[in-house]
Amino acid sequence: MIGLVATTKAGRVHADRLAELWPDAKLFAGPASAALPEAWAECDGVVAFLSVGATVRLLAPHLGDKHTDPGVVCVDEAGRWAVAVLGAHGGGANTLATRVSEVLGTTPVLTTATDAVGVGALDQLGLVVEGDYAGVTRAMLDGDVVTLAQDQPWPLPPLAASRVPYEALIAPGIVVTDRLIEPADGIAVVRPRSLVLGIGSSRGAPAAQIDQLIAEVLADNRLSPASVGAVATVDAKADEVGLLEVCASHGWQLSPYPAELLAQVTVPNPSEVVRRAVGTPSVSEASALVHAGAGATLVAYKRTSPMATVAVARRAPRGRLTLVGLGPGARDLLSPRAAAALTSSAFIVGLDQYVAQVRDLIRPGTTVLESGLGQEEERARTAVDLAREGHAVALIGSGDAGVYAMASPALEMADDSFDVVGVPGITAALAAASLLGAPLGHDHAAISLSDLHTPWPAIERRVRAAAEGDFVVTFYNPRSRGRNHQLTDALELLRAHRPTTTPVGLVRDASRPAERVILTTLSDVRPDDVDMLTVVVVGSSQTVEVAGRMVTPRGYRWS
Ligand code: SAH
Repeated sequence: MIGLVATTKAGRVHADRLAELWPDAKLFAGPASAALPEAWAECDGVVAFLSVGATVRLLAPHLGDKHTDPGVVCVDEAGRWAVAVLGAHGGGANTLATRVSEVLGTTPVLTTATDAVGVGALDQLGLVVEGDYAGVTRAMLDGDVVTLAQDQPWPLPPLAASRVPYEALIAPGIVVTDRLIEPADGIAVVRPRSLVLGIGSSRGAPAAQIDQLIAEVLADNRLSPASVGAVATVDAKADEVGLLEVCASHGWQLSPYPAELLAQVTVPNPSEVVRRAVGTPSVSEASALVHAGAGATLVAYKRTSPMATVAVARRAPRGRLTLVGLGPGARDLLSPRAAAALTSSAFIVGLDQYVAQVRDLIRPGTTVLESGLGQEEERARTAVDLAREGHAVALIGSGDAGVYAMASPALEMADDSFDVVGVPGITAALAAASLLGAPLGHDHAAISLSDLHTPWPAIERRVRAAAEGDFVVTFYNPRSRGRNHQLTDALELLRAHRPTTTPVGLVRDASRPAERVILTTLSDVRPDDVDMLTVVVVGSSQTVEVAGRMVTPRGYRWS
C-alpha cells in the first residue's frame, strides 16, 4: 500500500489524482506531524507532498533498516520533482518516484549512484544479498571487472559482471546460490528464493522446536535460510499454531495442500503411521515437492524431531522469454514497458540492426546475441533454449514482435517450462497510417508479399479476396532486390475491383531519420518508389484524399 500525505491545497490536488488512479493508494489526512509517521508505519511506500527537510525531520525518529523501511518520495509544491528521499532501492522509492512522475508529470530525482550511471544494482534484485555487498557494488561502479557465477541459471536482470563457471569465480565477484559457502573478501552472495520447506507437525508442536529442526536441516545440508521462499504442509495443519508462528516470524507464507494430493507424490521416506494419522504417507517431503512445482528436487530428506518433520525441495529455475516490439524506429514510439524489458533481461537476442536501434538502453552486463537477416529460425531457437535453461531473455524485433516477426517461430518451439511475456509494439501499418492520415478508419487487411515462406498462389488468393472484399490493404515486405513482380501483380488484382483514382500511400522508414511519404493513386503508383523498407497502403473504394491526406470514412456511403 502507498500512503499519500498532503497538507497544502496544491499537494492535496496531486494526492487526490494519485488516489483516484492507484487502487493501492491511501490518503492520510491531518497535520503532517501525525499523518506522516502514521503512513510510514502502515504502508510499503509513502508519497509526501512536503519539503524534503520537513519530511526527514518528521521521520528521523522512526528510521530503522533500509531493507525493511518503506520508501519515501517527496513531491514539491509546484509539482516539478519527485525526489526519492529514503529507501531508494530496498524501500522501492526509486520505482515509486518514477510511478509518481508517470501520473503527475514530475521529474524523478534518483540520487543513488548505481541508478545515476545505469548499472544494475545488487539490491534492486529484490533478493537477500550477503557478504561483501559494499565492496562489489563499488567495484561495479568503478567499472572494474566483476565476475558472476550461478550454480543454476536464475532469471536475473543484467548485472555489470562477466559470467564465469563456478570454479573460476574471483574477487570482486558475485555468487548466486542457495548453498552455504565460506565468506570471502570481495565476494557478494545473492540468495535466490529457491527453497521450499515441507513441514509436518503433531498437534501443539512448539514453535521453538520446529524452528530448531528447520535450522538443523538447513545447516546440515549446507543450505541458506535466506533462500527459503515458502513453506508447505497438509491441509490439516493449516491452523497449527506453532507452525504459523514460525512462518510469521520469518515472513514466510504457509501453503497447505489436501492429503489426497500429497498421497499421490512418490517420496523417498513414506510412513504408514503418518498415512493413518493424516491420510497421506508423506507430509514434509510431498508438500515441499508439490509446492516447488515441476522439475523440483528434494535437497534435504525428511528429518524428524519428537513433534515435527522437515524436508526441503529446490525449485527448478524458471526462465522468462519476453517478446519485445521496439516500434517502427523513433525512440519516443518505443514503449516504457519495452525499455524496461530490455533492462530486466540478462540476455537480448535480435537482428543486428534492431540491437543497434536500442544499444544505448542496454545495460552493462547484458549478453547480446545478434545475428544477420535470414537467421530467424536460429535466433528463435537461441532465445527459447536460454529461457528453457532458466534465464531472463528478451527477443526483440521492430514494430510488433508478433507481426511477421519472431514471436511465432519462438512460440512454435516453446513449451511450458518457462514464462512468456509479450510487450506490444507499434507495427509499421500503424506508424505509416498516422503519417498518411486516417487510411485504416474502416475494415482493413495486412498482407505480406514475401513468398519466401508462403507460396505465391496462396498470397495471390488472399490479395484477390481482399480486393473483392473491398478491404483497405497494407502490404508488408512489398518488394526487394530480385523480388519484383509480386507488387505489380498485387496492384493489378486490386485495380480490377476499385477505381484507378483510389489513393495509395507509400511510407518508407516511418519514424526514422530517412522517413519518406508518397501519396499517389492506383493508376499512378510506381513500383520503383517501393523497397524492403516501405509499407504500401492501398485504400478501399471508399477511401478519399482530403487536403493531401488519405481518409477512409467510418461508414459506407449508401448512395
Ligand atoms: N514486425 C514488423 C514487420 C516486419 S516485416 C512490424 O510490426 O512492423 C518487415 C516489413 O515491415 C518491411 O519490409 C516493411 O514493409 C515493413 N516495415 C517495418 N518497419 C517499417 C518502417 N519503419 N517504415 C516502413 N515500413 C516498415
